[in-house]
Amino acid sequence: MNKIIYLDAAASYQKSNAIIDAEADFLRNRYANAGRGICGRAAAVDDMVTTTRQKVAKFINADVHQVVFTAGATDGLNRIVSMLKPNANTVVAVSDIDHHSARLPWVGAGTRIAVCDLYNNFNIDVSRVPYADIMVITAMSNVLGVAQDVAAIIKAARNKNPNVITIVDAAQFVVHDEIDVKKWDCDFMVFSAHKIGADTGLGILYIKNPDLILPDKFGGGMVARVAGNKMILNIAPERFEAGTLPLTQIAGLGIAIDEIKHNRPNLDLIKYMYDELSQIPRIRILSARTATILTFVVDGMHVLDFGAMVGARGVCLRVGTMCASWIHERLGVDGSVRISVGAYNTTDEVATAVQIIKGIVK
Ligand code: PLP
Repeated sequence: MNKIIYLDAAASYQKSNAIIDAEADFLRNRYANAGRGICGRAAAVDDMVTTTRQKVAKFINADVHQVVFTAGATDGLNRIVSMLKPNANTVVAVSDIDHHSARLPWVGAGTRIAVCDLYNNFNIDVSRVPYADIMVITAMSNVLGVAQDVAAIIKAARNKNPNVITIVDAAQFVVHDEIDVKKWDCDFMVFSAHKIGADTGLGILYIKNPDLILPDKFGGGMVARVAGNKMILNIAPERFEAGTLPLTQIAGLGIAIDEIKHNRPNLDLIKYMYDELSQIPRIRILSARTATILTFVVDGMHVLDFGAMVGARGVCLRVGTMCASWIHERLGVDGSVRISVGAYNTTDEVATAVQIIKGIVK
């Protein structure tokens, strides 16, 4: 069996040895719960949570009390709905590049959905942002891989409604660029740790004004004191962190942040594959040469068949709608093939993948 060529970082990033070792070391040698013990080992876990939170805050240019640990981007996006408690009259602006997790929680809550107009590159048209009570902005599409001008969109939304609440889904953006929540001036922002090389089951939720938001989850750790059935809430961010945190995943997150900051995926690999695959007449590329991912369809071949064929030859990539139905509908395709790279991918790997693809799509 040939070595696997993993070209699906946008679905989940491979883990470095340093991150795996940090998690294993935590489980083997340093394990205890956080926020619940006073012995030295428990205090060290509290320190780990605190220093990791500080690192996340610096990474996104936030203050520590604005950084909440969640179970992932999807969890964060759903929790925002529970925190904001919308009703059937709440207008939520979304766009067709959204991942299902950014729009469906609002559909599930029965809100009024307003779909933003898009430019030709499918990013939100800043000059035609609709009036909205809440606006969801996908900072980078997981299908087309082009960064939005988030700050300009938020400014435009505020011109229409000064009280609009803005939410940024940075699940893909975080891999390729620096997040600056102050520059964006968003009210909420989410991403998942596993997309930058840390583990699954952990995400970040940034809340601009956490003291104005009531908790959506209740249990241990989120209260300062309980008297009968009365509770005095903990200060932020702990008031949003009921229950035991995903500590093993947190043990790896700080290293993942250091690694991604200093070693982003090499997008020359995407350009190389774009140049090679665009020469094949049956391949129709949907993404831009300068995008962070390469997305295409193969004329006369179902994407699932294509995925199975390259998969059988050791190339791991993503096929289907990638939980982004709306953009596929707009593009007029049932699904697509997506190639994405991590900092660990090499020139040799992508050259081999190109040869395998050329062997299948003659
Ligand atoms: N938003 C975008 C743009 C994504 O690409 C993804 C995952 O692919 C998500 C949200 C959801 O992330 P998770 O499945 O880690 O919760």
